[in-house]
Order: sequence, then structure tokens, then C-alpha cells
Amino acid sequence: DSSRDFPWTKNLELNNKRVFGNHSFRPNQREIINATMSGCDVFVLMPTGGGKSLTYQLPALICAGITLVISPLVSLIQDQIMNLLQANIHAASLSAGMDWTQQLDILRELSSENSKYRLLYVTPEKVAKSDSLLRHLESLNSHSLLARFVIDEAHCVSQWGHDFRPDYQGLGILKKKFPKIPMLALTATATASVKEDVVQALGLVNTVVFRQSFNRPNLWYSVVPKTNKCLEDIDQFIKKNHFDECGIIYCLSKMDCEKVTETLRKFGHKAAFYHGSMDPGKRAFVQKKWSKDEINIICATVAFGMGINKPDVRFVIHHSLPKSIEGYYQECGRAGRDGQRSSCVLYYCYSDYIRVKHMISQGGPGQSTMTTGYNRIASSGRTLESNTDNLLRMVSYCENEVDCRRFLQLVHLGEIFDSTNCKNTCDNCSSSKTLIEKDVTLIGRQLVELVKLTGERFSSAHIVELYRGSLNQTVKKHGHETLHLHGAGKHLSKSEASRILHYLVTKDILTEYVKKSDLYGSVSSLLKVNRSKAASILSGGQTIEMRFPSAVKVVKPSKHGP
Ligand code: ADP
Ligand code: ZN
Repeated sequence: DSSRDFPWTKNLELNNKRVFGNHSFRPNQREIINATMSGCDVFVLMPTGGGKSLTYQLPALICAGITLVISPLVSLIQDQIMNLLQANIHAASLSAGMDWTQQLDILRELSSENSKYRLLYVTPEKVAKSDSLLRHLESLNSHSLLARFVIDEAHCVSQWGHDFRPDYQGLGILKKKFPKIPMLALTATATASVKEDVVQALGLVNTVVFRQSFNRPNLWYSVVPKTNKCLEDIDQFIKKNHFDECGIIYCLSKMDCEKVTETLRKFGHKAAFYHGSMDPGKRAFVQKKWSKDEINIICATVAFGMGINKPDVRFVIHHSLPKSIEGYYQECGRAGRDGQRSSCVLYYCYSDYIRVKHMISQGGPGQSTMTTGYNRIASSGRTLESNTDNLLRMVSYCENEVDCRRFLQLVHLGEIFDSTNCKNTCDNCSSSKTLIEKDVTLIGRQLVELVKLTGERFSSAHIVELYRGSLNQTVKKHGHETLHLHGAGKHLSKSEASRILHYLVTKDILTEYVKKSDLYGSVSSLLKVNRSKAASILSGGQTIEMRFPSAVKVVKPSKHGP
């Protein structure tokens, strides 16, 4: 309750203004601070740029004792410490790169009575692998000098997230050893399954959860057909809309990064490339030049990601298809942290789907290509199948010419977004294309029946394949070609069929559930029927209408396939 006064309320407001120079609090900041300062375990889901750092830095300043912050990247830590120093707040860090005596000095200084340090930043492997740190924490705790644990980028704990790091799983030890010390877990990645996983792995108790809309109103989304003049198109787009401004172009491979860079330079842009095979020194150099605006454009693989907190990134362009909607959302999220209007443009062609699919089947580079100094992210533990499903979702996102892009992204993150709030800031909402309402009740009914008939244990990608009459391996393996509805949707394009299927999910007629399919925790997302909601469709009591571009013919399906 934000209207209630806590003993620290005055102090909080004073320091927010004086030390951090903020006039007010952003949504949820005050409530999060009050919860963690009351001693609760807190889980925060807040989009990038929402202001997560303040929610622990401000308490660190006004509470007695040290705040221990676990953060995945040395570069992130250095950034934070520099910012804090500018506000005259002292913070130390321990990382694998430092020599031993240096680390001991810091630990000793922390335990000294008049230590100047308010926060200690460490990388997760320090907690998992360094007994010495734990011993020092125990000693601090015995003098009541351990204020709070903060887990930044907490989704890294979860194998279901897109950034799993094995070292994060060792963090469960903190709550085991120090059950009374409050923990604050922060992330900008928000699927429900990830949240559950994180709460469990960290051992949070009676957790207070803060979650706010993940919509980023200042980002403008569009999908553009990718032709062989793609680089000319990108050049024109930048010159016309973001001349001399700063942006990222995400590319599929190292070779693409270098090629795109070279071409853009020829067109007169200040561009550089960034990918996982460059040595760390070179990468840091490029990132620094970009941060200081000496380079405008970085052409990068997804290795360029976490830890970028440049506030004025004005555009994020995808030169090729992202691997999942979740990943796409995160990558776009690097634009416009300062709240100013920024563009997210995705260049899409179907042949990129084949390329990405091939890369996935080769086992890489998936979401996990980032080498981070010394800490290589392990494979995310997802099955090939669920990776392919994620990719297919991305394809149907791109091929969807009707629904609001925000709606499509946010539904995927478990949030229902009212697309009238988009206010024409995505290509589909602002399109002048004529749309026609069509009755898709019969198609909807057949899709629901197929989910039922196949025992409610298949993914949406499989149901679409099956409905359109595919004879792929999975169809044959389960004998699904013998079902009477096999091929009943042959007249539909893949994107139409999957759009209708996903519409049923957004209407709660079908429900997606996550299934851990083996010991290694690989997961897949499967469909089941929500009986009560589906009843009126199956009985014919309810019709389903959807809008389609007028050129698309959604004709009546035949009962017996082609
Ligand atoms: P996140 O970690 O959630 O991505 P940050 O903590 O880096 O976000 O904050 C993003 C930006 O917003 C920073 O430049 C920060 O100084 C600014 N900011 C945070 N809280 C406030 C506030 N209450 N008022 C004004 N600016 C703020
Ligand atoms: Zn929209």
C-alpha cells in the first residue's frame, strides 16, 4: 500500500531525490522497496528500463549492513559500480578475474566496523564455488551486518528461461544458510513457468510478487518482407528515420554480421560488428566505442545482449528471423530505455526459417552462444522439438498481417493486452489494408477435435501440420494420418491455420501447458482442451469470427480432406 507510511518513508524520499536525483518513483518501485525493507522475500518482474536497480540500491543506502548483489556479467557489475560511485555510494565487487589478495582485502574491509562499502557485487560462481565468501557472509551475519541478497537477472536460474546459467542454480545455498536474510529477485523475463522455477530454486518463502505490464509503449514494431535488396532497404530506413542515431542490427551468423557491417559502411554508416568468435578484448572495444557514440550501428549476433544499458538505442533491426518470440521481445527491449520513441523492424523471408531451423538442428548457435568472459552458458536444456516450436511461433508472428504485434508478443509472455491501447504503433494496427470478418467456427471446431483426438499431448505446431495433411515423421510415428480430420485444413496456409489455432488459445478454448519431458528438464508446450469453454463451440452454440486480409480466402473446409 503506497499511501501507508513506513518508518523509512521520509528517508527514502529524501535520498531518492538527493542521491539519485529522481523527482519521483516509477511504477512499483516504492512498493518493492517497502516490501523488501519490511523483510519479505520479493520477486520482481519488470520490463527493461523500468528501474529495477533503484529498488535495491536505495535500500542498500539507508539500511544497516551490506547488500550482496549477484549479477551475471562482469561488465554489468562494472557499469553499476561506476554509476553508484558517481552518486558517491561505495560498492565493491568480487569476480574470478581478480587476484586472491585483492579479494581478501575487500572482504576484510567489508567486515571492518566503519566500512565505506554499502554493496558487494559478485558473479554467481563466487557463491557456488567460493567457501571463503560464504564464511565472510557468516561472519557479517553474526554481526548483523548482512542486510539483503539481491539476485539480478534472476531468470538465469531457470532452465526454462532463455539464458540459463548453471552457476545460478547454486544460489539456493544462500537461503539455506541464511534463512532470515531477505532476498530480492529481479528479472525482465516473465513467463509463469520461469517464475515458479526461480522461486523454487532460490528457496524464496511467502514471496511478494510484483509484476507490471510488459508493454513498451515507446517501441514501434513492424515486420517487413526481406528481399535481396534488404541491405539497401535497411540503409534507407536508417537514413530516413534514424539518421546518425544509435542502433543494433541483429544477424544470424558471424558472416552475416561482417557482411552487413561492410555494406553499411559503404553506404556511409559508422558500423561495426560484434559476435561470439571475436576475442573478449575486441568485443569490449567495440561495445565501448558504441556506448560513446563513436560507432552508431552494431551488427551483432545474439551474443550482444544482456548488459547493454545504453539508454538511447533508437532502433533494433532484425536482419533475419529471431529464434523465439520471447527472445525477440528481449532483443527489441534494448531499444528506447530512455522512454523515447524507437523502432523495431524485422526483415522476414521464409527461407530464413529454413536457415534458422538448420542451425537449431545442428545444436547451435541457439540462444546460448554467449561467452561471458569466463562463464559459458550451458545449453538451455530444451529439446530440439520445442526449439522448433518456438521458431514456428516466430514464423506465424511474422506471417500474421492482422493482429496487433504487441498483443501477439505479450500473449506469449502470459499477458493479455488490449490492442486498442496500441494506438497504431505497430504495422498491423496502422495498416490501411481492408480486413474482412470471416466465420471460422467449423475450422475452430475441427482444431479442438484434433487436439482431443490426439490425446491432448501435442504441440500447436503438430496440430497445424496434422490439420493441413502433413505426412511428416511425427504424424506417421503416431499414425495420425489415419485420423478422419487429417488434411481437413489443407486449404489453409500454415500461417492461417496457426493463427486460428492460437486465437483459440487466446480465447481460453485451448490451453497451453508446459511439460517437463525428461530428467534433464527439457520442456515442451502442449495443448489441451478447456472443456467448459470448448463445449459451446463443439455443440455449435457459439460462432468464431476472425478478421482476414481481403485477399485471403478462408473457404469452408471439407470433412474428408482434399
Ligand atoms: P532496469 O534495470 O529495470 O532495466 P535501470 O535500473 O537500469 O532499469 O533504470 C533505467 C533508467 O531509469 C536508468 O537510467 C535510471 O537512472 C532511470 N530511473 C530509475 N528509476 C527512476 C526514477 N524513479 N525516476 C527517474 N529515473 C529513474
Ligand atoms: Zn498494434
